[in-house]
Amino acid sequence: TAEVVPQAPEDPLFGLMRAFKADQSPDKVDLGIGAYRDNNAKPWVLPVVKKADETLRNDPELNHEYAPIAGLPFFTSKAAELILGGPDSPAIKEKRVTSVQTISGTGAVHLGALFLARYWTGNKKVYISNPTWANHNQIFGNVNVPIASYPYFSKETKGLDFDGMKSAILGAPDRSIILLHACAHNPTGVDPTFEQWKEIAQIMRSKNHFPFFDCAYQGFATGDLMKDNLAVRHFVEQGFELVIAQSFAKNFGLYGERAGCFHAVTGPAPDAESTITRMASQLAILQRSEISNPPLYGARIAGTVMNDPKLFAEWEENLRTMSGRIIDMRKSLRAKLEELGTPGTWNHITDQIGMFSFTGLNEAQVMKIRSDAHVYMTKNGRISMAGLNTGNIDYFAKALDKVVRD
Ligand code: PMP
Repeated sequence: TAEVVPQAPEDPLFGLMRAFKADQSPDKVDLGIGAYRDNNAKPWVLPVVKKADETLRNDPELNHEYAPIAGLPFFTSKAAELILGGPDSPAIKEKRVTSVQTISGTGAVHLGALFLARYWTGNKKVYISNPTWANHNQIFGNVNVPIASYPYFSKETKGLDFDGMKSAILGAPDRSIILLHACAHNPTGVDPTFEQWKEIAQIMRSKNHFPFFDCAYQGFATGDLMKDNLAVRHFVEQGFELVIAQSFAKNFGLYGERAGCFHAVTGPAPDAESTITRMASQLAILQRSEISNPPLYGARIAGTVMNDPKLFAEWEENLRTMSGRIIDMRKSLRAKLEELGTPGTWNHITDQIGMFSFTGLNEAQVMKIRSDAHVYMTKNGRISMAGLNTGNIDYFAKALDKVVRD
């Protein structure tokens, strides 16, 4: 059978990382993968993560037994509070939420997709933004949930195509699954305003659509964890039944530790608690057959921080350091391009939020800036703002200016 297995293409993002590593130029700039870098272009272990790690190491009771199937409760309960807005969330108070620890955000999207593939009785099709995180296609494809897309990004304004988005959501058959990025949209860096979220919720309510929130960047949009969950909170307040995939990769810098959580929320109903109990039982079976038990380390770190008010405050400070540096880079890049008189408008660099910016470069320009200036970004012109620092931003602005003029 081996000969029937065709060669698959390399994952584009990880291929880009490999090409960057192989590049010998001292000037090379990595704007590919969405991982935070400090001003020296180095990965940053959050000081609060170091503290939590030390606490864990010094705990003589700590062992390496299996976690429960649904993960560590001290982590999943705080993860739910973080995305739902605290213990006063109506979903938490009314026991209408169940949470399962997953293999980071990817595992949470997968578990949600698998669950809906089994149990969603509406239109079994997921609508994803165009563009979106490339893995969404593969994950839903793997569980045979067909995919359609809704317009999201306007090439003209380099902002939200709100009319296009609304009419596609309105045009989708009743009870479709709509995948929404909770905040800091990947790859565009463009989010709806709160007023726009309210309109989206209204349209989705009128169509009885099912919201599937993917939240990989809480804390990176506004720098405030409790502001970055406003869209999710609004939908919950409106009584939607919904699911959430939550990643702690970026906001804790725990990329490789795979700390994440899947949450299912049912609507307010007299039997909501028993519905959630049944859902939890099925999620446990799916989890058992796929990973048995989730990994401990990342959840222990995140759980330790989220359960301790002092460490939590320090985490918020660390998040402000990361989001603040990214905002500085946005301001600086825009100013430099405007100073150089680079053709085009560059306000989108500071208007866009989160970790990424959609520069507007086309694929030919992306390939040219790579071969001419050793600057690495994804083919769609997305740059990870965290790859910029005071040491390379001048060089990058000039390279960008040149490729736009060429
Ligand atoms: N969703 C989106 C939109 C993302 O950008 C990411 C990270 N690139 C993820 C989910 C999941 O990432 P991870 O599995 O590393 O948590």
